[in-house]
Amino acid sequence: MSTIAQNIERITSLLPDDVRLIAVSKFHPVERLQEAYNAGQRLFGENRAQELAAKAPQLPKDIEWHFIGHLQKNKVRMIMPWSSTIQSIDSKELLQLVNKEAARIDKHINVLLQLHVAKEQTKSGFAVDEVLKEAEEGAFDNLSNVTICGVMAMATFTPDANQVSQEFELVHNTFLTLRENYFASNKAFKEISMGMSDDWPIAVEHGATLVRIGTDIFGAREY
Ligand SMILES: *Cc1c(COP(=O)(O)O)cnc(C)c1O
Repeated sequence: MSTIAQNIERITSLLPDDVRLIAVSKFHPVERLQEAYNAGQRLFGENRAQELAAKAPQLPKDIEWHFIGHLQKNKVRMIMPWSSTIQSIDSKELLQLVNKEAARIDKHINVLLQLHVAKEQTKSGFAVDEVLKEAEEGAFDNLSNVTICGVMAMATFTPDANQVSQEFELVHNTFLTLRENYFASNKAFKEISMGMSDDWPIAVEHGATLVRIGTDIFGAREY
């Protein structure tokens, strides 16, 4: 069995049944992704538009691609045909544009609302008070070609497990508030995407339903 296959098997065996593993394959060549595919992996995450658009056509059609990186408005069209889910919706303008582009090619797309809970200002996403205000003002209503399926977040890059734990708990609570007050009739609003190689066990403790793991599956990236 290949190392990649062993890594996927090990991580999957540690995840609760209702938590899905996204193999984050950025910077790795398609041969490595194919290895993961051969081991049964069908859910992959990429964070750069050009890279997704270059790799996806070379791989099997039943892969479910999640776009997880910061998405510039001029790249929406490039990733639209390949993405089943865009996890990184960080403004209502981007959401509107994604809806419009999906409608243009007659596609239905899933999205997650990215929340900013980390200390680093470089990370993107809605602040918690901002996402609640947008919801209240109707920014997430009446989208013809988009289904909002939940939230996504990254914790601060820190060895302080307590800090990470608090941030994931904030994500979980924000998800619950949104669901109760604004998405009660949307049965698809059930995903919490959080947890990476260094912190996914903490994310799972705080209700993650999708974990995004790169290094622990494919090894270190060569930038
Ligand atoms: C790269 C990346 C990951 C995976 O990170 P690892 O530490 O390699 O597991 C998860 N989420 C996002 C948004 C990423 O960009």
